Parts: sequence; structure tokens; C-alpha cells
Amino acid sequence: MIKVFNTLSRSKEIFKPLNQGEVSIYCCGVTPYNPPHIGNARPFVTWDVIRRFFAKSGYKVHYVQNFTDVDDKIINRANELGVSWSDVAEKNIAAYFKSMDALNVRRADIYPKVSETIDDIIKLVATLVDKDFAYVTDGGDVFYSVEKDSSYGKLSGRKLSDMMAGARVEVNESKRHPMDFALWKAAKPGEPFWDSPWGKGRPGWHIECSAMSLKYLGAKFDFHGGGSDLIFPHHENEIAQSQAALGDENSFAQYWLHNGFITKGNKKLSKSDKSQAKETKGFFTVEEVLAKFPGEVVRLCLLQAHYRNPLEFNEDRVAETQDFYRKLAKAYWQLETLAEKIHAGEFVKDTAEKNFAITVSRAGGLVEEAERLLANFYAAMSDDFNTALAISEMFELAREVGDYYKDFTAGKILPVTIDGGIILRVREIFAEMAEILGLFEQPVPKVVDEEKSDAQPELVDALMKIILSLRQDARAAKNWSTADKIRDELKAAGIVVEDTPDGAIWKRA
Ligand SMILES: [Zn+2]
Repeated sequence: MIKVFNTLSRSKEIFKPLNQGEVSIYCCGVTPYNPPHIGNARPFVTWDVIRRFFAKSGYKVHYVQNFTDVDDKIINRANELGVSWSDVAEKNIAAYFKSMDALNVRRADIYPKVSETIDDIIKLVATLVDKDFAYVTDGGDVFYSVEKDSSYGKLSGRKLSDMMAGARVEVNESKRHPMDFALWKAAKPGEPFWDSPWGKGRPGWHIECSAMSLKYLGAKFDFHGGGSDLIFPHHENEIAQSQAALGDENSFAQYWLHNGFITKGNKKLSKSDKSQAKETKGFFTVEEVLAKFPGEVVRLCLLQAHYRNPLEFNEDRVAETQDFYRKLAKAYWQLETLAEKIHAGEFVKDTAEKNFAITVSRAGGLVEEAERLLANFYAAMSDDFNTALAISEMFELAREVGDYYKDFTAGKILPVTIDGGIILRVREIFAEMAEILGLFEQPVPKVVDEEKSDAQPELVDALMKIILSLRQDARAAKNWSTADKIRDELKAAGIVVEDTPDGAIWKRA
């Protein structure tokens, strides 16, 4: 049973798919006028995990995400740069994919663009005009009439009268009600335009998502997602115009999920806030963050809070996540090492083969624990996709693996007593968690086994003393090549030697 928090009902509901064994999702994509910033990345990483979770739970997933490639911001940017609007869009769509690939975000089934959906948009606007939910002005604009729609405001839970206060109302003399919104905008000089029954123009912002979801997912689909800043007016308008056109108040998305903001100093991260852009300088776009931290670490950081909660994002936090990630990576390699030994025939194939009458070694306990943690992991994900809790279950498994591995390397567990099948199952469970969270799809860093290297620090000190004194002897004998060789090979092993007036000293790189 999967429970989700539905913005529409403002409550946690049991998810019932429209079609058994299938999940259809529409997530609002980016307006590609700039490379994506870290706040933009959150909904896509969130939905990527949700998709993976559904897929791993046996659902067939249909996922649609748009590009708003016709928009004021793109047109303005193109004019600033003296290039075409489509050049601006294409360049930033490429930047979007580059950033998302680095964050292991799987591609959508389809990425519709406004410029490629104009016919469907015009058809939808025409339906709304025919049904009298929309009107055409003398200037060739088409507006949705909020007063014609008695349920307008149901998603955000606002009444028409409340919306007026504080709303950014577009000033337009020809609007019948200040909250009416544009479905179609008459062409202005220097803007891209398409022919329509109302003259040359281009779509308003909201209508594209209704047209695209209708085209690719049908009149009803399971999930609609996006950042919580989209609830009003964007999603409110989507739901209004879609249900008005379809004449069915149960049509369109069944569950509305909205992710919280990424914050910096408790303020929402936004492209348009200039003061903040200064504060977050060098750590704002996904590309800038990726220049300092690996993609999988950034991804893990974005998943360490529940998607609905705000997430404070700064370098310290990502650095903390990096330590955390390294602990997971260490368990990954420990399981790989054990698996290699199993394949090399160092362990028994299974318990029955050796005819053990008792449960051998501690592997039995380890696999029981792993199965329990996997069940917890799924329970956390089934409870409104609680990645924060799911990650802690994976971390717990990493700790268990570490304890087991430590006993193994210390000789407390003999290979002959290990049931290889059991270890492979633990590795499979660890990999299943990683797959859902989208980790370890890029080369996994080899994490030095701290227990091992720090186990006998006195011995290391003693050995280093001997090595450095041999190097000193070589130097005294003017045997520079040997002295250099010692220094270079120590460096390759992660130890830096520095010559000081008091003699050579060493430290770990
Ligand atoms: Zn949208």
C-alpha cells in the first residue's frame, strides 16, 4: 500500500492507480532561458526516485515532462544576446540534460515542447472558447474567465476574493476579471508567433501543460508534480482549464504532489533574486555545485530531506553528505570484495552443499537484518516517498556490512563457514536500495578502509621511520634515484614526504 500526500485534498491518501499496474506522471519542466540551478533540480531528482520506486515495485511508468520553450524570459534573453529564441532554448535544454545526467536523473518518456504542441494548444483554447469558459478580446488575446468556473481555487484552497490580495495581477484593460488569465497572446513585434483562429500569436503559459498531458497521458492520469511555487496560479489554472474543457470535474490529475523549496539562509532559492544570486555566488547552478562535489553526492543531499519539506542547501551540508556517501561506498566495496571471493571459490556455494547442520557463521544473521532493513526501506518509500527515512535504512545496512566485514578481515569468520549465497543476497539488497535512490551508477570511489589503515598506527609509524632512514642513507650516499624512488612510491601510496631542516617528515595525502 502506497500513501501519498495530495495537495488537492490536503491529506495523505492511499494511492489507487487508474490502470492496474501502471502509473502515469506529468511533471512541469523548466523554462530553458538559463542553465538549471539547484532549486530547479529538486523536483526532477524527487520524481526520478518516485519513478524508480514504482518501477521497482512492478509498475509500468509513463513519465512526461515539458520544456516551456516559448516564454517571455526566453524572448527577452534572446533579444539581450541578439540570437533567436530557439537558440536560447536549445542551448539551455542541452545544459539541463547535462546537469540531470550528472545527477543520474533518468530521461522522461517524452519531453514535449510548446513550439511542437501549438496545434493541440489551439484546439484546447478553441474548445474553451466554444464552451464559453474563455473569451476573445478585440486585440486578439484569449482569456480564461475565472468567474465562469465555480470551482476555481480548489487546488490552492483560495477563494477568488482572497486571490486578489497579493496576487501579481497582469494589468490588462480588456480583461473581464483581474484574475482571468491568458490562454493565447496576440503577437507583439519581435516575438515568435503562430497563426490561430484569433490571429497571429502565441500560447499563454498555463495552457501548454493541459494540452501536453492530455495529448500524451489522456484525460485522466495519476500524478501531477512540480515545485510548491507552481500550486498557484500555474496548477490552479491547469486544473481549471482542463476540467472545463473536458466537462468532467474528476478528469485530469488524480494526485497533486508538490516539493518544498531549496533554501539558502532560510530564504527560497530563486533565479530572479539578485541579492541571493550574490550570496550563493559560485554555488547556485547545478554546474557550479558539480564543480565542487560529485553528482551522486549532490543527488543524495537533495534526497536527505522529505520532498515536501524545505531543504537548506549549502557547501557544509553537501560536504557532510559526502562523508555519508563515502560510508555507503565503503559498504559497496566490501560487498564487492566478498562477492569476488565467492566467485573465486573461496567460500562454500551454499549451506546445504557442505551439509552443515547448524546455521553457519554470522551471515545468516546479516541477511536476516538486511531483509528487515529492505522491508523498512520499502515501508518508508511507501509512506509518501520518505527518502530521508529510506536512506537511513540503507545506511544502517552499510553499518551492518561494515561490522561483518571487519570480523571477516580480522579472521573471526572463516571463509569455509560462509554461505556465499547469503552474502550475494545481502549484496543484491544493497544494490536494490541503491538503484531506487539512484546511487552507484557512476564509478564508485574506492574508499580506503580506515579500520585497517588505522588499526596499527604504531606499526605504520615504525615502518615509516625505517623507510625514511633508508631514504636518508641513500641521500647521504648521493644515490638520488633511490631517494626519489622511495619518495615517489610513497606518494603513489598516499603518503607525502617533505624534507625539512630537521629531517624528512611524512603525512597522509
Ligand atoms: Zn506546467
